[in-house]
Amino acid sequence: MIGRFAPSPTGRLHLGNLRTALAAWLFARAEGSAFLLRFEDLDQASVRSEHYESQSADLAALGIDWDGQAVRQSERGSLYEDALHELTDAGHTYRCYCSRREIQQAVSAPNGPPTVARYPGNCRELTAKDRAQREAAGRRWALRLRGPEDEIHYDDLLRGRGADIVDDVVLCRNDGVPAYNLAVVIDDTGQGIELVVRGDDLLSSVATQTHLAQLLGLTPPQFAHVPLVLGPEGRRLAKRDGAVTLPDRLSQGETALDVLGHLAATLGQCERGERVSPGELVRRFDPARLPSRPLVFDNAWCE
Ligand code: GLU
Repeated sequence: MIGRFAPSPTGRLHLGNLRTALAAWLFARAEGSAFLLRFEDLDQASVRSEHYESQSADLAALGIDWDGQAVRQSERGSLYEDALHELTDAGHTYRCYCSRREIQQAVSAPNGPPTVARYPGNCRELTAKDRAQREAAGRRWALRLRGPEDEIHYDDLLRGRGADIVDDVVLCRNDGVPAYNLAVVIDDTGQGIELVVRGDDLLSSVATQTHLAQLLGLTPPQFAHVPLVLGPEGRRLAKRDGAVTLPDRLSQGETALDVLGHLAATLGQCERGERVSPGELVRRFDPARLPSRPLVFDNAWCE
């Protein structure tokens, strides 16, 4: 099944990101399928241009290769606009004039625990007159999805069957930037992605993305959500947690193959301390051995 890795070039990849990339790559390559790299760089304010290169280089150094040129979402704006028009014409969106800060958060992937409050629906039933008043006062609008009443069911290869509500998520920010949930659906379906493997902090987005694909008459991919690597305090792994990037590990005397072996061991794909080439990992890949619990990182690797 064609797979992908879709990082945001906002910083160096850390070991948790690299481990997710490895899992996604192994799923694809073990079946002889294509694997694509896509930069989710719509929020240009947080992009740091050197990280297109640093992220590509770190993946390549581990032997995680991809087919064709890496795609950048920032170059695909017209595809997202077409989808927004289609959804709007079919009555699936509404204009929301709520505060900028709230809407700002919508463009990034909502990694993290599913604590994000639902949109309270303030702008859901505005009349044409209400809207005209707000627009006359210079208020800009974001476009929100008119979420369905019912939960959406989905299957996850690793987590099994699930169901979730679909919130009235922002599809386009009030500064015209398409939101993550829209762009990811257009790209995954448009690029022919068959299996999305990513961190399980995004499990809560599956229902939304499946629903959006269906509204657009597109076939959603399958999903496999891999447990995250956490820092010692139980939060998402971060710089403060120590030597968490590939260059950090190299500067401590490890080789790229050592790092690959460590990552693969934390995915249940080889023994700890074993050094295995990327090709051998592909040959051995067994999804049944992937862990089902998050992993806590410490600097002596994952205990
Ligand atoms: N760009 C997102 C991230 O870096 C990943 C989104 C996805 O895999 O769907 O966390």
